[in-house]
Parts: sequence; structure tokens; C-alpha cells
Amino acid sequence: MLRVGLADATQILKLTDEAVVDNLRVRYEADEIHTFVGSMLLILNPYRLLPIYDSLEKYRDVRLARAQPHVFAMAEEAYLCLRRDGVSQSLVISGESGAGKTESTKLLVRYVAFRARAAAGAPASALSESLVRSNPSLEAFGNASTTRNANSSRFAKFTRLHVGADGGLQRAVVVTYLLERSRVTLHAHGERNFHIFYLLLHAAAQPGSPWPAALELPAAAAPADFFYLRPAPLAGAGSGRSPPPPAVGAAGRSADAGPTDLATTLAVLHAAGVSAADASAVIAVVAAILHLGQAAFAPAAGGSDGAALCGGGATVDAARKLLGLADLRPLLLERRLSVPGADELVIQLTPQQCAGARDALSRALYELCFAFLVRAINRGLGGLVDDAPFIGLLDVFGFENFGTNSFEQLCINYANERLQQLLVERLFKAELKLYTVEGVPVPGGAAAASFADNLGCVEMFSASPSGIFRLLDSQCISPQATDAKFICSVNMTHSTSPFLRPPGARGVASSDTFIVKHYAGEVTYSGAGFVLKNADSLDSHCALALGNSSVPFVKALIEFGQQLAAGAAKAGKHGARRAGGLGLSGGSASASSLGRRFIGELDTLVKALSAGGCHFVRCVAPSGSGGIAGAALRSFDAGAVARQLRADGTFDAVRMLKHGYPVRVPFAQLHARFLPLLASASPQVEQLEPSQFGELLAAVVGVKPADCALGSTRIFLRGAAAIAFDELRAKD
Ligand code: ATP
Ligand code: MG
Repeated sequence: MLRVGLADATQILKLTDEAVVDNLRVRYEADEIHTFVGSMLLILNPYRLLPIYDSLEKYRDVRLARAQPHVFAMAEEAYLCLRRDGVSQSLVISGESGAGKTESTKLLVRYVAFRARAAAGAPASALSESLVRSNPSLEAFGNASTTRNANSSRFAKFTRLHVGADGGLQRAVVVTYLLERSRVTLHAHGERNFHIFYLLLHAAAQPGSPWPAALELPAAAAPADFFYLRPAPLAGAGSGRSPPPPAVGAAGRSADAGPTDLATTLAVLHAAGVSAADASAVIAVVAAILHLGQAAFAPAAGGSDGAALCGGGATVDAARKLLGLADLRPLLLERRLSVPGADELVIQLTPQQCAGARDALSRALYELCFAFLVRAINRGLGGLVDDAPFIGLLDVFGFENFGTNSFEQLCINYANERLQQLLVERLFKAELKLYTVEGVPVPGGAAAASFADNLGCVEMFSASPSGIFRLLDSQCISPQATDAKFICSVNMTHSTSPFLRPPGARGVASSDTFIVKHYAGEVTYSGAGFVLKNADSLDSHCALALGNSSVPFVKALIEFGQQLAAGAAKAGKHGARRAGGLGLSGGSASASSLGRRFIGELDTLVKALSAGGCHFVRCVAPSGSGGIAGAALRSFDAGAVARQLRADGTFDAVRMLKHGYPVRVPFAQLHARFLPLLASASPQVEQLEPSQFGELLAAVVGVKPADCALGSTRIFLRGAAAIAFDELRAKD
């Protein structure tokens, strides 16, 4: 037993951070990738298929306290809690990029589908099939190869599996958040654009493929031929885009690194409920985006204002045809402003502004396609009615800290702060509050009760009126908005916050960077584009032209986007259903800013998570990932593991949970259930108060005093007695 370490890190006798990491190492080397921290599960990414996912049956009806640590045991616990309490249960899966969140989520879906089938006695349902099948198509459009993960999810996903009264799966809903829209038009060195672009070009290059003719693509086109598929130059490497890197995505792709070809993706889309015509139409828009990216601009001839297209404009014409427009050039070269009571004002854009308009159009189109697919998949999964309680699976993008951190990292890291706060609330604050209310001394004393609270950091981002996102919004509505002014306002406004690094030599008014002390580490935010990215929306004239497209799908896509944007604006500060980042303006500037919408979406998500039970799964990259590949990924780097466990509060959790009481049973419940049994043996117990009765019962069944504490309304238990009591209660 000891050879594979301890299955629950809270059982370590001489608890130190090193001992926790060492226990994980011993287990990892014996292929034991799962370890409990109380009711939390840690998973170390094995980076190879282990034979541990075949026997689902053995987890059925096993409570977590008795289970061996396994991702299926967590799913079973969530399922049992849902059935027992009738309340939704969510599994929050977190960890760095490449740590294994998405793969773990797939395993959880598989288990819940199995469990629901077994409970309802139904054969393999079409619903769970289509759910599993929808993954590759979402990944084709939402995942990309990055320096950390050849199949990195560039969006967050909350999958709700609604469980009906018979225990069977009733319907499923997938909600996505914050697709990394900027990747459509620019990606870093060593990374790629979204998979779908490469899948399309690969399919088009096959002999006899119908795609080149249908999509106006040159024969045998390669990714390097397309502007959007070339990476950004390395900083300081001069202007112009450099050739593609030795593609992590091509060389390092394993069989499970995302969808592999276009035909499969289309078949999967079809199976997931997207009609063949719609699927082809989406592909045509994807091709149009590639063509759009080829448009280059130069100053207009003859010294006049504005810009002109370089070259013959053939690619712009291809995009025009695919998008069903009479003329695309004005949408790229001019801006039209409606002036109340006067003629429309036409402004000629500079070449740089034209490139900006081109990229905004590409990003908006791509994101609409993604949202359209999500909606189609949801329709195939049984619609959006959500009455029955659900098992929620949250696969969220991990914390990010790059050389240059901009608006995307600000949003992603803020989302991680919110989820960390949920953990802090559920695991630490709720515990301490309960002990106080019940009059029970905090087990383990002050040392065990200390934890890092990140609430102040969450508020620094979202508070009104001075939160970082509000400061950005107020910049965006000012006519002279600049990134420097925004950065400066963050440094000035939050100069005394413990979550902002004091500017020191940079001075309070520093306008090039601000440094946030996130729970997972310090991140320096800099770089241009905050203002532009926050306000990034499709120009209304562009939307109007596309709304009149001769291609029915494009027309429908724009209408769909407008509906979503209108919904988002209406939902206002109470949060939108699913509209974040859709590049269509649905109302006032601030209501539709990306940051504002994202906060709204997160509010809705956190509310849904908070309303029910939460179970935490933390994925850990054994080598800390970060740009290595192959077997090296599997090597256990104690420093990298410790960094991840410290950053997400796991060490704090082990300390607190080691001393805590995992099971608490209300006296009233014990009294109601066991009084008849004990009263038949000794009738005088009927005179006891429920609390006195609970104390007596604990003594009768031989609970050691060290393993229990008596609160004002409930008994707290740990060890063997805890398991026994919990199971008795579960039988009620
Ligand atoms: P990102 O935040 O970038 O989306 P992630 O945490 O979702 O990262 P995954 O895509 O789930 O990471 O995992 C990265 C890779 O690790 C997978 O492509 C797969 O090769 C491997 N992997 C993850 N989990 C497992 C597992 N349980 N068994 C085998 N391999 C795994
Ligand atoms: Mg992922």
C-alpha cells in the first residue's frame, strides 16, 4: 500500500508541502495519477493512455469516502448527491494549459452518460452519443496548437447534463465563454490558428477535392500561403511576418490532439445536428476569412486621403463572392458615420485602419460561426429548456502569464480569480463560518485556518465604478482613448491595493504596464490593444451589408448575431446568456464592451455553480508543461508541481482538511432515524434532546472523542465513524 503512497494527501502524518509533493511523485511513478485532498481530486497528467478507464461499473453506488481516488469516483459522487438532494452538482475542473482539463472532462461526460443509462435502464441514448460526438467539432473550431498544448482549448466550456426523475439523462446544454477571437487574425510564434483552417486546407489539397473550386482556393494551397496562418514576428525581429515555426501542431500532434480531418469534422457536425448545407456554409465563411486575410492596403494614389487595395484584389473578390456581397471594398476602405439631421459622413481610412477593419470583420465572422455551431449542437442535444437539476462540468482555461499579457489574459485570469474565490468560499470560508456558528473550535487551530483570500483581487477587477474593467470601459467611450491612459488610470486608482504591485521605480503614473498580484502569481499587463479589443465590434454598416447578403446562411448568421447582442444588452449588468465577444453591437457602447459582457457571463455562471453542490478537480502538469514535448512532458518536476499546488491553494486545502471533519450530520436527522431503534432497548432515551441523543449515539457506536465534535445543531465526524454515519444517512 505504502509503495504507491497515500490515496488521500490529508492522511500524511508529518504534513509539509514537500511531503505532499513527494507523495504525488511516489504515486505518479507507480502510475497512480489520482490523489484525493479530502473531497477534492488531484489528477497528474499521464500523457499516455493508462488502462484505468474501462471498468465504469465498479464506481457505481460507491460514496467518495469509500472510493479509490479516480475521476469516475468524482462523477459518481456528484451523481449520488444530485439524486439524494435533488440539487444540481458541478465539477469545476481547473489547472494550467496542458494539465489535462479537457481530457478529464470527456471522461466525466462518459461516466455520467454511463451512470444515467444504468440508472434509467435505457440502452445507449442518442443524447449521450451526440454529446460525445460534438466534442471534435467544437475542438476543430475552438482549439489550437500552442506552445503548451497541441490541442489547447481557446474557450471555456460549461456542459450541463440534466438528469430526469428516473435518473436518466434528459438533455444536455453546452455554454461556451470567451473564445479567443484575436487568434483568428494573429497568433504567436510557435503557435497556430484554430485547427479548422488547417483541416480545410488539408482537405482542399487532396486530389479531386471539390473544395478549391467551391471556395475559390488556389490549387494545392498551403498554410504558409495565407497571411492569417503565418505567426506574428518574434519581438524585435523586424516588420513583416516570418515563416511558420516548426509546428508544434504538426510534429507534436498525437492521435488525441484534436480532430484530424475535415471530412470527419463535417460528419461529426452533421451527427451533432448541423445540416450538411449549414456545415458547408460555415466552411465557406471560414474560407472567406482566409481570403480576407490576404487583402493588403497601401496609401491611395495621387496623394489623396485614404487607402487602396494592393494587387489585383482577386482574393477580396473571392471573399465577396463567398459572403454574398455586391461589393466588399467600401466595407474595408471607408467608415460611414450617421450624423443626425445631416447626410451620412464617409471617411476614407488609412491603410492601417483598413487592416484593422479587415481583421475586425474576420474575427466577428469567425466568432459568429462558432456561436452558430454551439447553438446547433445544443439543438441536437435537446434544446435549451433547463428545469431538471444538472451535473455541470466546467472546463475552464487555465491561468495565463506570457511575455506580453494583454486583454485576453486579463479576462482569462479574472475568470480564474472568480473560480478560485468560489473554492475559497466553499472550502475555507464556509468551513470556518460553520465552525463558528456551531460553537466548535476550528480543528487544527489558527495555522490550519489560514488561507489566501483573493476576494480583494476579484473586486479590483469588477467593482463599480473603479474596477479595472470599468476603467477600461470609461476609456473606450472617450474620444481620445488610448491604452496608455487606461494603464495609467489602473495604476493611479489602485495604487494602494495589496493586489497591485507598487509601481516603485516606474512611478504611480506609469503608463506602460500594470502588475497584478494574482493568486497564481504576478502578471505584468502591457502591450497595445486593450481599448481596441474591449470595444471590438463589427461596424454597423458592415453588419447591415452582411445582413443583406445573397447567401442565406450569411444573412441568417448576422441575424443570429444581432439577436444575441440584443439579448446581451437587455440582460445588462445582470448578465447575458451567451453573447460574449460576439462582434455585433447590441446597444450602448459600454453595455456591449467585451469586458462588461464577460463579467455578466461569469456572474451567471458563478451563480449557477453557487446554487448547488461543487466538487473540485485540479489537473496538474507533472513537468509544468511550458514548451517541452514528448517523453519530457511525463517527467515529474517537483518544483513545477509545487508551484501549481501552491498557486491554486491546494497546500492550504490539505492543511485545513487534514484537521477538519468531512462529515456533519444534523442531530435532528440522527434523532428521527435512530430513536425508534434505541428506544426499544432503553425507553428513557425518549426524554433526551436531539443533541444529547446524538452524543449518546456516538458513544454507543464507539466513536473516538478525537474523531467527533458536537456543535449546536449537528455532530462533526471524521475517520471510520464518519463513513459509517454518512452511509447510514444516505440510506434514508
Ligand atoms: P488547455 O488549457 O490548453 O486546453 P487542458 O488542461 O485542457 O489544456 P488537455 O487538452 O486536456 O489539457 O490535455 C493535454 C494533453 O495531455 C492531451 O492532448 C493528452 O495528450 C494528454 N492527456 C491529458 N489527460 C490525459 C489522460 N487522462 N490520459 C492520457 N493523456 C492525457
Ligand atoms: Mg482544454
